[in-house]
Parts: sequence; C-alpha cells; structure tokens
Amino acid sequence: MNIPQSSFPRIVIIGGGFGGIALAKKLANKDVQVVLLDKHNYHNFQPLLYQVSTGGLEPDSIAYPIRKVLQGYPNFYFRLAEVVQIDPKHKIISSSIGDISYDYLVVATGSETNYFGNKNIEENSMAMKTIPQSLNLRSLILENFEQALLTDDLHERDALMNFVIVGGGPTGVELAGALAEIKKGILPKDYPDLDTRRAQINLVQGGDRLLPAMSKIASSKAEKFLEKLGVNVWKDIRVTDYDGKHITTDTDISFEAITLVWAAGVQAVRIEGLDVDELLTRGNRLKVNAYNQVIGHEAIFAIGDVAQMETEAYPEGHPMMAQPAIQQGQNLGQNLVRLLDGKPLRPFTYKDKGSMATVGRNKAVADLKRIKFQGVFAWFVWMFVHLFFLIGFRNRVVVFINWVYNYVRFDREARLIIRPFKKQYQSVKNKVADSIAAD
Ligand SMILES: Cc1cc2nc3c(=O)[nH]c(=O)nc-3n(C[C@H](O)[C@H](O)[C@H](O)COP(=O)(O)OP(=O)(O)OC[C@H]3O[C@@H](n4cnc5c(N)ncnc54)[C@H](O)[C@@H]3O)c2cc1C
Repeated sequence: MNIPQSSFPRIVIIGGGFGGIALAKKLANKDVQVVLLDKHNYHNFQPLLYQVSTGGLEPDSIAYPIRKVLQGYPNFYFRLAEVVQIDPKHKIISSSIGDISYDYLVVATGSETNYFGNKNIEENSMAMKTIPQSLNLRSLILENFEQALLTDDLHERDALMNFVIVGGGPTGVELAGALAEIKKGILPKDYPDLDTRRAQINLVQGGDRLLPAMSKIASSKAEKFLEKLGVNVWKDIRVTDYDGKHITTDTDISFEAITLVWAAGVQAVRIEGLDVDELLTRGNRLKVNAYNQVIGHEAIFAIGDVAQMETEAYPEGHPMMAQPAIQQGQNLGQNLVRLLDGKPLRPFTYKDKGSMATVGRNKAVADLKRIKFQGVFAWFVWMFVHLFFLIGFRNRVVVFINWVYNYVRFDREARLIIRPFKKQYQSVKNKVADSIAAD
C-alpha cells in the first residue's frame, strides 16, 4: 500500500462514513499514524439519498472527498480499497490493493440492504443505500415515464407508473412523499400527453404504524401527511415475492409494478476473519463492550452501524443512525489517545438528540428530547439540521440554494437520465434505456 513505517502506533480505520470520519478527526495531530481505507473515495451523506433519487439534488452535493477531510495531517493516509479479510492473530488486513498490518483496527463499515434471504426481491428490487443505487433509481423512475408514453397497453402503462416502496421507516416515508410531490407538481407539466393521474405511489409497511422508531404522534401525523399527498399507505402487510413486475404479499393484496424500492431492512457489513460468530447479532452487528472494543479482540474496535453495544438503555444496541456513529467515533478517538497514554478508557454514553423525518414541502415530524412537533416548523428544523451535518461548506451552499430554488419554483431540475439503468424485466420496457445506452 506504500505506507511508510512510523515510530507511532498505526491505527487502521475501515470505512470513511459518519463514524470513521468522526474518529479520524479526533486523531488529528496526535502521536499516531492513521490509515483510512474505503471502497469509495467520498463520504456519502445517506440521509439525503432520496433527494438524489427524485431529482431534487445532484449527487455531488451530498458526497465529500475523503482525502479532503484528511488534508494537512502529516500522519494520515487514505487508500481507495475494499477490505476483504481481517487476520486478528497476525494483526493484518487484506484488501483489494494488498495487505497492511495494524496496531489497532477500527471497523466502521456501516450497513447494507437486508433482503432477509429473499433472492427474487434482491435481484428485482431497487435499493437506496449508495449514490450509484440512487442514480439507478432516478434513471428508472424517469425511464418508466418515457416508456409509459410509448405503450398502448394500459396494463403495461399502469405497471410502469406504479411505484411500490417497501418499508415505512424514514427512508420509505421520505421517498414516498417526494414521489407524490413529483406526481402532483412536475409530471403533469413534463408529460402533458400522458394521464399521469394514474401514477400510484404505494408505501407498504409490515408493522401497524409508520416510523416505528418515533413517537405515535409522529407516526400518525406522517401517515396523514402522506395520505394528503395522495400516497396509498398499506400497513400490516409484508411483501413476500417479486419477479420484477408482480408483487405478492402475505395478504390477498398484490401489486403490478416495474419499480419496487426495498427500504425494509439493513444489516451490518461484515468482513471475514473475525472469529466472532457467537458475537454476531441478528443484523450481523459485532458485539462490542462499552469502549467499542470487539468482545474477545483487544486491538479491534467497531463503531456505528456495524457495532452492537448492549446497554441498559439500549438492550438491542444503539439505533443504526448517524448520531450514534458520530458519537462513538468521537469517543473512540479520545479513548485511543488515552489508551496510548496509559490512561483508563471512558465508556460510551449516547446522547440522543432526537429524530426527524420529512414527508414533503412544509411537512415533517420531529421528536426532540423535550418536545415533539410536526408541520412547517419541523420541516425548517429538519432542513437546518441536515445542512448543519452535511460535510463541506460548498455542499451546504449548493444544497441550500437548491432547496430554496425548488421551494420557490416547485421544481426538481436534476431529473436527468445521465446513466441509463437497464432493468432486467423486459417486454416493451427499456426500449428507452436501450436506445439511450446505444447512443
Ligand atoms: C437512505 C438512508 C437514509 C438515512 N437517513 C438517516 C437520517 O435521516 N438520520 C440518521 O441519523 N441516519 C440516517 N440513515 C442512517 C445513517 O446513514 C447510518 O446510520 C450511518 O451512515 C452509519 O454510519 P457508519 O459510519 O456506521 O457507516 P457509513 O456511514 O455507512 O459508512 C461506512 C463506510 O464504510 C465503507 N465500507 C464498507 N465496507 C467496506 C469495505 N469492505 N472496505 C472498505 N470500505 C468499506 C463504505 O464505503 C462507507 O463509506 C440513513 C441511511 C440511509 C441508507
């Protein structure tokens, strides 16, 4: 990897997400060598991915180069690499660009979509965990409407304009709301020769309420907001299969849709080699102690989505959200310095700042520590918080300008098919994607 030996201990961090970056920042100018490895060269601000998928923001405005975060620190090294194996015995990790030894290793690999073993759904549905996936979804949505214009088959047209989002957490709710706004405000103008009123946005939730991790008032208000926007909310229904067009559920209800977005579950990204099978939880998370140390591995730590720290307040581990990852990264950074100074470590305590979800223009729900509120004010708070946590001054400015523009103009101008997405399920479909791809 061309990383020089140093007299300082080497800390290798796998993953430049919320946790990895927060940790790296805490190690700046300390007597350590920091090697950060990520399979992408950018940090991805996942909470705004749905806006990329729906043409509200360009992908560049929610990504930030990892090298820029590390700029100016002499003992910091970044390598673009996918880590595939950890060898705890010899303190070596293997990656797509070679091996590297470590004194301390921090696993901050985040999470990936969980299909709960359903291969059909995995192959045929759309996920929204990464920027490329969001761009695929954006292309597919737009290609569907282009295709709907071309077909005389009413069934086919309806399936192209039918969107099914599975999972009533923040991602599902936010995406459904954004699609409903597109249907209302943009489609009739973009496709005057298509009856876009037939477009349907369906949000399918396995449980009996949306946003189950939030308060009941937030759930019911979010549902009301969505219904007002014209979203069909289906509760207590589980999607059981999908062949690319036909969606079956565990009830009599079924759908025909070319687009199914799977936002119904995540699991930690696991790297082979840790002898921790008994320490893995249902979601593949690694069990860690109060200092984020992987149980049984003194020199290995895990933070963020990949770590399961079971405490009295969080017996199932902390929520898989940005704040626990950031706070664990910060605490671990301080602890690693303390460890090297021979001082006792400080246990992690999560400071819950609350949670929020936006449904659409002027519509959001917020559960903060002392107060719960919904509506326009919640929407402004949501925007402020997301701008605040977005990495990079340029990104904040660009996102802010885009939001103001979209708000004033009722528009989303990034509805572009830059990189066509070719969905496998074909009949008349994808002629559009084919013809663009052939260009
Ligand atoms: C669509 C969506 C919306 C969300 N909305 C919210 C929200 O509104 N609020 C909120 O708090 N949270 C939200 N989350 C959750 C939040 O983004 C995660 O909890 C957070 O990103 C976890 O941080 P992390 O550091 O653990 O992992 P991540 O931020 O996911 O970072 C993991 C990093 O590891 C890298 N990586 C993975 N495997 C390897 C490997 N083998 N080798 C090298 N690099 C690797 C990845 O490229 C990535 O950069 C959302 C998530 C999604 C997907």
